[in-house]
Amino acid sequence: MREELLALAKLAEMDDSARDLDAELKQIPQSLEELRDSVQTLETMLAQERQQLEEAEQLKLRQSTELKERNEGLQRARKKVAQASSIREADAGEREVEANRRSIKEREEELARIGQAIEAKTASLAEREKDFEEARAVLRSKEEASKARIAELEEQRGKMLSGRDELAVKVPKSIIKRYDRLKTGITNVVLIIKDGTCPGCRMALPPQLTIELQRANELHQCPHCRRIIIHKNVVDD
Ligand SMILES: [Zn+2]
Repeated sequence: MREELLALAKLAEMDDSARDLDAELKQIPQSLEELRDSVQTLETMLAQERQQLEEAEQLKLRQSTELKERNEGLQRARKKVAQASSIREADAGEREVEANRRSIKEREEELARIGQAIEAKTASLAEREKDFEEARAVLRSKEEASKARIAELEEQRGKMLSGRDELAVKVPKSIIKRYDRLKTGITNVVLIIKDGTCPGCRMALPPQLTIELQRANELHQCPHCRRIIIHKNVVDD
């Protein structure tokens, strides 16, 4: 078992040294994804503002058309008053003139409000477009930088883990499986025991276990933290 445990200890040491690289390799796509999400949010907001602006423009167009119609109505009403052949006809014409005037005033006020809203919306839209373009540029450069960084990390990782496969074939599959399972929950899964204490959890190991560890006849785990423990004599020999 000595040979197998030694291979496992070396393999675990490699994995531990590559842990920071692994963490960074995992983190890069995550932060890119977050950035993509925020660019996407800006794009959605931009689309909404464009839609609102378009609606305001349409409203303006409708009000302008109505204003034109009301102006024509006013001309017709004035004509009626001028051409009235009775007081009753003249009164009706005057009422029509008045109604058109009121409506024209309302339309003009409404148009002024819409005009202001369009102006404000246009300004904020320009601001949003700028934000969006900036965010997209940041995303692009971050994507580029990430690609380069990932390549760099992969290369370092490859170097760091060269020879790992050769070590892995020396370790029984059941042990590799147990090692991989432990690795998902804790760090420094394989520890070298120098005295009667587990360096992982700092708990004292039973004396009998320490003796068995030196014999290296089987795989042992710390009874307290479940880490795989190997006696230093096994590694040093
Ligand atoms: Zn322990």
